[in-house]
Amino acid sequence: MGKGTVINLHTHTIFSDGIFDIETIVSEGARKGLTHIAITDHFETTKVCSLSKRDFKRYLATIETIKEKYEGTITVLAGVEIDANPDRCDLSSIPTEMLNSLDLVLFEYVNDFLNGGADIETIGNFISELIVPCGLAHPDFEIAFVGIHPDDLARLLSQYNFFIEINTAKPYKRNGVAFYERAEDLIAKLKGKVRFSIGTDVHRTLSEVYNVSPAYNFARKIGIEEDLLF
Ligand SMILES: [Zn+2]
Repeated sequence: MGKGTVINLHTHTIFSDGIFDIETIVSEGARKGLTHIAITDHFETTKVCSLSKRDFKRYLATIETIKEKYEGTITVLAGVEIDANPDRCDLSSIPTEMLNSLDLVLFEYVNDFLNGGADIETIGNFISELIVPCGLAHPDFEIAFVGIHPDDLARLLSQYNFFIEINTAKPYKRNGVAFYERAEDLIAKLKGKVRFSIGTDVHRTLSEVYNVSPAYNFARKIGIEEDLLF
């Protein structure tokens, strides 16, 4: 908001496990004053109903059509969310060119042993071929980065050029407190060293499209607004 932008870079549609079509999400974002919205459906995972390689072209074309229609009102970005759990998603089967035709790629459960996620080095090596921004979706900081010094974490994230998502969705809380709030001290130490995004993980509730305020309040509180994407 400091830069006049209001972003939500994490939403799901009927192309994976969401219930709204792309235009419904985008028009709601525009109506509520978001400046940037990313469509980031689950891709090639057995975890949930997911976008497949077969449908990828149609997915991208649909986003492109909506992007053009809303040009000047809201910036629409094309992304996907990839599951870092190798039992559910075979990274080697995902063509790099496909991902490079997107605007961003999210990876969930990186370094998250509770969810069987591969480590950050494995995912980092995979994304070395990617030219689009890549981020860690809804990281469970206390699990994923336990025992890592903030400076080392900042180095690791910048080595692979990962941004970190501040995700406001209900599942990403412990004892009612969001993962990012629980990691406030750590995130404050990454200030100026790492890029951050904001996402609400819309699936089934349209009001989630604009549930970015808690993340913006947090970003303002610890002074990382300048480190936000867009
Ligand atoms: Zn998601």
